[in-house]
Amino acid sequence: MAETTALDALPSLHETVRIHGLRADKSLGQHFLLDLDLTRSIARLARPLDGVNVVEVGPGPGGLTRALILEGAQSVLAVEMDDRFLPLLDDIARASGKLSVHHGDALRLDMAQALHAPRKIVANLPYNVGTKMLVNWVTAKPLFWEQMVLMFQLEVAERVCAQPGESAYGRLSVLCQSVGECRIAMNIPARLFTPPPKVDSAVLVIDPLDTPFEDLKALGELTQAAFGQRRKMLRASLKPYAKRKGVELADWFAAASVDPQARPETLSVSQFQRLCRSAHPA
Ligand code: SAM
Repeated sequence: MAETTALDALPSLHETVRIHGLRADKSLGQHFLLDLDLTRSIARLARPLDGVNVVEVGPGPGGLTRALILEGAQSVLAVEMDDRFLPLLDDIARASGKLSVHHGDALRLDMAQALHAPRKIVANLPYNVGTKMLVNWVTAKPLFWEQMVLMFQLEVAERVCAQPGESAYGRLSVLCQSVGECRIAMNIPARLFTPPPKVDSAVLVIDPLDTPFEDLKALGELTQAAFGQRRKMLRASLKPYAKRKGVELADWFAAASVDPQARPETLSVSQFQRLCRSAHPA
């Protein structure tokens, strides 16, 4: 492939960082992956990439960006806040003809507008705002992505995939599992990053369900009320919520076939969805 040869001619990632004198900025959650074999294994998790438009949040020095292009993405839109990376991203854009760069905050970008379907989001996310971005993408209506392949702190990835009864199970698990099949596809030890963060990371893959839950906003409100007081029985923690919604507590739980004495971490995702539907009849 022409872009393979042209990208191969670029300096290595380590060399690129050295030439441009780049140091990680902690305030932007910067931890880089400078091993192209590793970034290619991450990019391969998003295959097939033919005909797919990828949005990559936080390309930094471009290790994952190069890998996505080498693995055959039709186009990559890289969204980066730190202008120090723009010249070296321009080099990748020129060499490949497949990269465009948006300089700005990914939280403010309308991705559905910015690129055509089919879209995949692939990113080594900044630690400080990664969870907020994920919640935005799973609660988007309609879902605008065909797949997400995202690197997080291991602890966040575990919260997303946790099952009822596990200590990591919570609001993030219920929201993410209500729209997609979630799995941890790869563990990345902290030492593989430059500079190494304090904790290990994991790559999370989320594939949308055929029928995602219809009202993530309402489910978000319900799970916030339930998990906000994790130790309490639902009949106590959800009392103010029921009042706000104008539903009678006992009837509401009976209609959803949920035990009002249960604690939130024991409820399945579908039980939360039933409670949500009963409080918000269509
Ligand atoms: N993808 C690169 C890699 O794997 O080596 C860098 C990953 S680093 C963990 C996160 C990147 O996100 C940094 O380049 C940082 O500047 C960028 N970033 C931080 N906050 C951002 C935001 N709100 N929007 C876009 N990029 C952001």
